[in-house]
Amino acid sequence: MFIVALIAVFIAFIVAIAVWYEKNAVRGVCPTCTTEVDLLHGVGACGRCGEALRAKENGFVPVEAGFVPDHPRFLARFSRLKPPSTWKIIWPGRCCVCAGSATREEKMDVKSVAGQVGPMLTPLNITASDEFAVGYCASHSDGVRFSFPPGIGYAKKNEQCMLAVRSVDYYREFMRENGLGRQVSEEAGG
Ligand SMILES: [Zn+2]
Ligand SMILES: [Zn+2]
Repeated sequence: MFIVALIAVFIAFIVAIAVWYEKNAVRGVCPTCTTEVDLLHGVGACGRCGEALRAKENGFVPVEAGFVPDHPRFLARFSRLKPPSTWKIIWPGRCCVCAGSATREEKMDVKSVAGQVGPMLTPLNITASDEFAVGYCASHSDGVRFSFPPGIGYAKKNEQCMLAVRSVDYYREFMRENGLGRQVSEEAGG
């Protein structure tokens, strides 16, 4: 009985999240790669080509340079990035939100899936842990978040690990330096 109640609560939770997402997501077509994308509150990065987008009356347009939303909204999925151990520090000595002089540095512990070992059906993930530093001025925080969702064992994939970035300029620079590049053409067929 308890299990049933627990499952019911879990399902209600999932449905609530789905409803909330439907209400807050804006659907449109990426002007760069023509993929249909959903963006929470109409601001974010295209999941396919990585273009930073915002909703306008007639669909999505690339975000103007200098744009900084209230929260990190531009998601960089690890499956589209070079291995974290090779990442270049972006804007060294400067704030990752406003690009002003940094007064402190935050070291993030970035975990990623580096590979798998063991039998094909039940392999074990090898996770890597790398340090990535971001700078902040005295008036900013919460410029870059790292998300490593609780995946179940080897089911966790690098697509589920991501950085969320607030400043679009920082995000674009990060993708230029540490991204795998646009993958529009090679995926166009499939
Ligand atoms: Zn796109
Ligand atoms: Zn700042």
